[in-house]
Amino acid sequence: MARFSSKNLPKTTPKHYKLSEHFSKRDFVCRCGKCDSAIKISLGLLGGLEFLRSKSRARVQIVKGYQCPESAENSGKIKRNYHTMGVAADVTLEKKTLEETFLIAETIPEFLGLGLDLKHGHVHMDTRKDKARSLWVVTHAGENIPLSDENRATYLPPQLVEPVENSSEAASSAA
Ligand SMILES: [Zn+2]
Ligand SMILES: [Zn+2]
Repeated sequence: MARFSSKNLPKTTPKHYKLSEHFSKRDFVCRCGKCDSAIKISLGLLGGLEFLRSKSRARVQIVKGYQCPESAENSGKIKRNYHTMGVAADVTLEKKTLEETFLIAETIPEFLGLGLDLKHGHVHMDTRKDKARSLWVVTHAGENIPLSDENRATYLPPQLVEPVENSSEAASSAA
């Protein structure tokens, strides 16, 4: 199935190389400056991000896409995480709040990991292969809190929760 496959792009692939309609290699390269821009990128992630763009009608800024294992290790993160696997992106949407961005991303079934990162100012989205979704918030203080039905209203204003479209409807109209 296409959504589980990924692409390896060696350092010889030019940065303007188009990965999908609105994204090129440049958007996803590791920012460490040492790994020669060889990247790994999941096609399912790209599909989800294109979907995010069309649903939000907003420019998608990739704050962080692929991260090389060395850079992950040096920054104190686990060496193998969803970014080093090429299935994650930290994203902001132009002219949308982080909360709005999170809620739009939540309507896209490909994104099984979604983190509202208030501390760093982005929304993490990934296409991990788990059966259940993982939703979390990183607070301004840097605390990582799993999002549940009980605490949801604390972080996501209720007036924003309502206009979310039915995702299966949107999926068929986009097809
Ligand atoms: Zn790197
Ligand atoms: Zn992330």
